[in-house]
Amino acid sequence: MTTAVLFDMDGVILEGPRTEPDVYANAADAALVELEADPSPSQRRDFRRHDYDRIRDHCVDLDVDPAEFWRLKETYASSRTHDRLRDGERGTYDDIDAIRDLADRTTVGLVTNNRHETAEFVADYLGFDFDVVRGRDPTFEGYDRRKPDPYYIEEALDALDITEGVYVGDSPKDVVAGRAAGLETAFVRRPHNRARERPANATYDLESLQEVVDVLESAGGNG
Ligand SMILES: [Mg+2]
Repeated sequence: MTTAVLFDMDGVILEGPRTEPDVYANAADAALVELEADPSPSQRRDFRRHDYDRIRDHCVDLDVDPAEFWRLKETYASSRTHDRLRDGERGTYDDIDAIRDLADRTTVGLVTNNRHETAEFVADYLGFDFDVVRGRDPTFEGYDRRKPDPYYIEEALDALDITEGVYVGDSPKDVVAGRAAGLETAFVRRPHNRARERPANATYDLESLQEVVDVLESAGGNG
């Protein structure tokens, strides 16, 4: 039986739990310029966040296609994120080579709430040989399917034609989503979640990605 190890990205591979809010603020501003929209200051504040209902209402007011705004904002956020990784403004954790070791031994994947374009960039930029990479689609529906919804994890498992495995994440919602997809879950400790209680349903509570190898052995038997 094949056991897959699927990894979350932000807070597991990339340092820090999430994309900096500034990245989305700048991406929203760039999208508005491209669409030649001139929002009020309060509309602009909403455009910089992710509340779809508000964004859609403002798009109607400004005669902008909400789907096009959303797509452009996601695209600009991705390119800025990729620049930040190339420039070293955002780093990676020092134990991620364990993912390379695991890729030699079993099926590995990357499933993130972050944008699909960024997930593919990170996999390629860091040279990880993932068997599947899945991030959110650049649509509101895609945003709405983020964890704790198991949608993208289930899609990845379908693509691999695998049902057994472990989802490795740094957040309680990773444990919820992984469980809902029928996987074991590993809650990995990082500086930002060190003080958190272990999520109730987490199968494993790990100090490092190195320990995922041990998890693989206990979860998969002969792997
Ligand atoms: Mg995370």
